[in-house]
Amino acid sequence: MRRAGEVVRFVKGVIRDTIEPGVTTRDLDRVAEREIRKLGAVPSFKGLYGFPATICASLNEEIVHGIPSKRIVRRGDLVSIDVGAKVDGFHADSAFTVAVGVVSRRKQALIDDTAESLRRGIASAKAGGRVGDVSAAVQEYAEARGYGVVRQYVGHGIGRALHEDPPVPNHGEPGEGPLLREGMTIAIEPMLNLGACETKVLGDDWTVVTADGKLSAHFEDTIAITHNGAEVLT
Ligand code: MG
Ligand code: MG
Repeated sequence: MRRAGEVVRFVKGVIRDTIEPGVTTRDLDRVAEREIRKLGAVPSFKGLYGFPATICASLNEEIVHGIPSKRIVRRGDLVSIDVGAKVDGFHADSAFTVAVGVVSRRKQALIDDTAESLRRGIASAKAGGRVGDVSAAVQEYAEARGYGVVRQYVGHGIGRALHEDPPVPNHGEPGEGPLLREGMTIAIEPMLNLGACETKVLGDDWTVVTADGKLSAHFEDTIAITHNGAEVLT
């Protein structure tokens, strides 16, 4: 899991460095696949449930599961990249959102606050605690700042499969839900919207967008539950 996490962390950096005005989301996908394979790893998403690419690239009002295409990234766009890699049979899964060029304070705050909500969730993941502790930490931080917290898509256990039990929602009650035990590995992934939490799926049957067309951001890390808190693997 640690090695898969290292691959994902490195590839995220390469993708981040590649994002600039004029690049297509397919260019980003090619870079990601090349780097993952160069490191002897395998893209986790490609072929999973029929997904055709290595990364999900979701722009602006797109929340998750955008399919890389000829679409050009432009100044002012919010670009959400989700990437997973498998090493020796174990997966790691991570996502981030960046602004292309300088954007409005509101857009930048959406990005920064989504990242912070993930940090709050990670800080609340402890052996002996509950999944609800993580969910509530994310929800409380996000809703206090007026964001819509996506409920229809959630984090998850991860290991030999990309998606395992337990589900890790971004809303919930402290002290509720499955027990977190030492050695468990989970992906926490808040998706926050500038508008309401409702989502819809586009005609490609993959791309999830905000129902009200407002902007969305997504951050995700794979973590291990240890005796002294969470170890971030990605
Ligand atoms: Mg992911
Ligand atoms: Mg995930």
